[in-house]
Amino acid sequence: KAYDLESAVIGREQMKTLAETDALTETFNRRALADKLVQEMERANRYNTQLACLMVDVDNFKHINDAHGHLAGDGVLRALGGILRREQRTVDIVARYGGEEFVALLPETGLPGARIFADRVLKKVAGQDFGDGTRAIHVTISVGIACYPDERVQDSESLLKLADQNLYKAKMEGRNRYRD
Ligand code: GH3
Ligand code: MG
Ligand code: MG
Repeated sequence: KAYDLESAVIGREQMKTLAETDALTETFNRRALADKLVQEMERANRYNTQLACLMVDVDNFKHINDAHGHLAGDGVLRALGGILRREQRTVDIVARYGGEEFVALLPETGLPGARIFADRVLKKVAGQDFGDGTRAIHVTISVGIACYPDERVQDSESLLKLADQNLYKAKMEGRNRYRD
């Protein structure tokens, strides 16, 4: 009986993990991110701390798919998810936001900390070979940083929008960089 209960509890936790996880990259999926973003903004309000939100987008990913194939492209996304998961602290949240876009939430972190994180990830990605051993694949990313609280940010949507605007700036100003 105790065993049944235990396995039922384990089953429920696995189900929850599965429902929150992006299968390809093993980061949180977009739905889980939406919940966690609201929670973290509430936490920042309650405890008077900051929350950093980074939007990460692979540079010229269409070209990577065209040159190396869609499967290799999937491999790049999986590896990038791995890098982001390894670079995060345990309290941070990394999610796949869209096709080749990720969002990282860094609780209790302001602009200086977010810049350090972005710099570290940018260098890691640019220095790594994403190929499968037969052919090298070099990848860069661009990052848009937004921090909460900010006079332009009222809710989770406007926080993501600000990060996306800064991502756009990073792209326009040459890619392989962050903007805030
Ligand atoms: P930019 O530097 O401006 O971001 O250029 P980009 O080519 O990355 O821009 P864009 O957003 O137009 O292209 C993203 C491409 O990512 C389009 C799509 O074919 C590809 N993509 C989206 N999701 C996946 C996926 O799950 N796997 C693979 N292999 N490719 C994907
Ligand atoms: Mg994109
Ligand atoms: Mg892109």
